[in-house]
Amino acid sequence: MSFDISQLTKDIKAKLELSEYGSKVEETGTVVKVSDGIAQIYGLEDCLIYELIEFPGKGFGMAMNLEKSLVLAILFFSDASIKEGDKAVRTNKTVSVPVGYNLLGRVVNALGEPIDGQGEIEAGEFYQIERSAKGIIERKSVSVPLETGIKPIDSMIPIGLGQRELIIGDRQTGKTSIALDTIINQKGKDVFCVYVMIGQKQKATVEVVEILQKSGAMDYTIVVSAPASDSASMQYIAPFAACSMAEFFMEQGKNALIVYDNLTQHAVAYRTLSLLLSRPPGREAYPGDVFYLHSRLLERAACLSEESGGGTLTALPIIETQAGNISAYIPTNVISITDGQIFLESELFNSGILPAINPGISVSRVGGSAQTKAMKKVSGSLKLLYSQYLELKDFAEFGSDLDENTRKRLAVGERIVEILKQDEHDPIALENQIMIFFALLNGFLKDVPLNLIHSYEAELYEYMKIKGQNIILKLRQDDFSNDTVEELRKSVEKFTEQFLQKAKEV
Ligand code: ATP
Ligand code: MG
Repeated sequence: MSFDISQLTKDIKAKLELSEYGSKVEETGTVVKVSDGIAQIYGLEDCLIYELIEFPGKGFGMAMNLEKSLVLAILFFSDASIKEGDKAVRTNKTVSVPVGYNLLGRVVNALGEPIDGQGEIEAGEFYQIERSAKGIIERKSVSVPLETGIKPIDSMIPIGLGQRELIIGDRQTGKTSIALDTIINQKGKDVFCVYVMIGQKQKATVEVVEILQKSGAMDYTIVVSAPASDSASMQYIAPFAACSMAEFFMEQGKNALIVYDNLTQHAVAYRTLSLLLSRPPGREAYPGDVFYLHSRLLERAACLSEESGGGTLTALPIIETQAGNISAYIPTNVISITDGQIFLESELFNSGILPAINPGISVSRVGGSAQTKAMKKVSGSLKLLYSQYLELKDFAEFGSDLDENTRKRLAVGERIVEILKQDEHDPIALENQIMIFFALLNGFLKDVPLNLIHSYEAELYEYMKIKGQNIILKLRQDDFSNDTVEELRKSVEKFTEQFLQKAKEV
């Protein structure tokens, strides 16, 4: 028998054209069962995965499981309002949310609907919540710093625009504070921020919005809230929706920052859904694709090349650990996806070292390339000195006779610890950080008693604001030439003399 391949192709093509697939926009099915926020629908034969399904007059859902004769959909409204026999209609669309400048200053839910009682949002555009990440060709490497205004981060764990940096720590260690402070510090820097809260108390959203409002940060921020009282399906889509809102700014060639607070709760919500959808559980009862859940989300952060518009999207995911266990399933997953992590420790928090960052195990894989020249030069030896001090400190506790050199190094370390402490919601400008680290690492603090370090810092900033305007200007332009350094040295020297003189008199 002869076999004509070209005829076969023609036949297949003709069959495909005849098939109804794609031509039938609307297809109606019937709900056969509803429970736990999940509807089983019969009759949606051509339904696509993640397709938006309308339950006329009630609300929307999303197709999650495509089975032989049934479609399992998660619901974005209360399942009490829907019952067996109700209609379900395909929409031929995936879930989309409003994006644009009109969302700034607003608090919305995971579907982009306003929940702050300030009226409707007129959205210019809608973006699908699941969008593919930018490809390698459209990207360039991260090179511009994202200033957090937090001294230990900007000096030792610098974050770049377009980077993904994880904030990880136990409960109540200051994770949210770091993320909020970073947003607050973007004031006037033309960075648009999106803060998404997943699985937390409703009260927490109110508090976050209050803090952002008080510091004037809401003007350039969108808050997406999917509290614990929302359904698991809303919590599941919230970060994806928020990411689309942030991507809008990136695609306009702007800089955007997104905070996911937190992905531990997100994974829990996804686990709940997966179990309800009867997907097989794996390690810690999470479904097998929980890694893909977070990798496809975080991969959307990017630093675009000039040809692609030059926009950036920086992501700060937050993970909550239990008893500092970073080798649990979700923490290890997210650590391996991100470009570095900031570790917060309860021990440091309890001993009053705030922010409670452990610089020894915190890293930023983008590192020095995301630091200004001045900051890189001035803080280069900080991390090493600090780690050496921590080692030495434990060792010194055993011995009483310490030689001169050890005592000196301990004194430097103690001053480093003091300088790295910082109150929350009080970001410090980069030029001020450079000045204080310069003073610290050039030995100007060695005669300043420990309890006066904080006054020294505050007064130095004041002094330089008046007497060192020229230096501040130069540091802002990242001019760290020998002339600037000399000028800075002279000013700091003069200030230190005055300060010590005054301290003696008191
Ligand atoms: P949770 O696990 O509950 O989400 P968290 O890790 O997000 O907690 P935060 O809520 O940011 O922690 O902070 C915990 C507490 O510590 C808050 O009361 C906050 O005000 C305080 N705190 C955080 N950072 C600092 C700081 N640098 N200085 C003083 N207090 C701080
Ligand atoms: Mg928190």
